[in-house]
Amino acid sequence: MNFENTLDFAQKLDKEDKLNAYRDKFIFPKVNSKEVIYFTGNSLGLQPKNAADYVNDIMKDWAELAVEGHFYAEKPWWDYHERLAEPLAKIVGAKPSEVTVMNTLTVNLHLLMVTFYRPHGKRFKIICEEKAFPSDQYMIKSQVRFHGYDPNDAIVELKKREGEHHFRKEDILKTIEEVGDECALILIGGVNYYNGQVFDMKAITEAGHDIGAYVGWDLAHAAGNIKLDLHDWNVDFAAWCSYKYMNSGPGNASGCFIHERFHGLKDIPRFEGWWGTNKDDRFLMKPEFEPMPDADAWQLSNAPVLALAPYLASLQLFQEVGMEALIAKRNLIVAYLEFVLHEIDKEVDSTFEIITPSNQEERGTQLSVFLHGEGRSLFEYLMKNGVITDWREPNVIRLAPAPFYCSFEDMFNFGQILKQGILSKA
Ligand SMILES: *Cc1c(COP(=O)(O)O)cnc(C)c1O
Repeated sequence: MNFENTLDFAQKLDKEDKLNAYRDKFIFPKVNSKEVIYFTGNSLGLQPKNAADYVNDIMKDWAELAVEGHFYAEKPWWDYHERLAEPLAKIVGAKPSEVTVMNTLTVNLHLLMVTFYRPHGKRFKIICEEKAFPSDQYMIKSQVRFHGYDPNDAIVELKKREGEHHFRKEDILKTIEEVGDECALILIGGVNYYNGQVFDMKAITEAGHDIGAYVGWDLAHAAGNIKLDLHDWNVDFAAWCSYKYMNSGPGNASGCFIHERFHGLKDIPRFEGWWGTNKDDRFLMKPEFEPMPDADAWQLSNAPVLALAPYLASLQLFQEVGMEALIAKRNLIVAYLEFVLHEIDKEVDSTFEIITPSNQEERGTQLSVFLHGEGRSLFEYLMKNGVITDWREPNVIRLAPAPFYCSFEDMFNFGQILKQGILSKA
């Protein structure tokens, strides 16, 4: 398609956009009494308008039924979390039995490492990406120390080549082969939070299994953003937070994937709690742990139903729309944003360097843009003028036009505000 950097053209794309009506199902903050241009759906997704109803239903059931709500609420609380498994399974490419929702992301990765990081003999190393999201770095280091190893010996970081912005697949596969039978676990962010790069999860999982390691993925920036086929890729485990592309609300619960080959095992290393026991006799309070036959065996506590309510509300929208339609719009809107950036770059004679791969297979919704010669003041100008982006040192802005609620007109308007911001400084 030949793009044009005009309001007419952007509006034409919006008219043709099948998801355009979904914009109205979300609540936009306002700046200068105008709805913002929201680029931070990769950090905290907007609130779906149906979320409050889902929460209020629980408040009402709690008021009217109190403890009886566990069994007699319209959506009973004791198995409330099970309602999320099926829609989530579609989003991450899993069987519903392989998905469960509990705790928060970092907690879940720790819990999953109890099962999947079992260093022994010479096999004790973890391969992760360099400059991983800080929580992942802290988590991996503390796990390694917990098992009595020195992070300097036990952690192998995948590196970008000098002067390059992306990880190369051939370098990743080579490192995996080199670490070989010393590798206990590969744990990487499926989409890199900084440059927006999508890793080849299928190939990396296969390479990890070839050397006898477990392979897990942190899907914080991937779930609800890119196409995932966790079951078919044979991924051992994965976890994601729900408040980024999945619009479930701040700090909300995390989803987990555990491949079915690990289900139904009583002797697997795992931290256990009563919500992981077979639900048929959970309330018999027996001393013996009988695991649920699926990913729910990793559950510990009864579910935080008030938190799961807005997550379920949001998943209803995902059910309606489907990942395929979201991804189709995502590809178009990100390509249009990229085009607008290049056009503005020419007009203002600046130098934006997009450090996200230009190849559609290797990126999702996010474009990370290096603003050479521009400072934090430009970011602040954007915020003041109703463009919500996120700033990372030294001078990268991350732009993630979530296909659920961002419009092509937003992309055009953003270009104009960006141009003003640069010109007003010059
Ligand atoms: C957002 C994000 C997290 C956040 O973890 P919480 O436990 O939900 O605070 C962790 N890892 C990655 C890669 C992230 O992008």
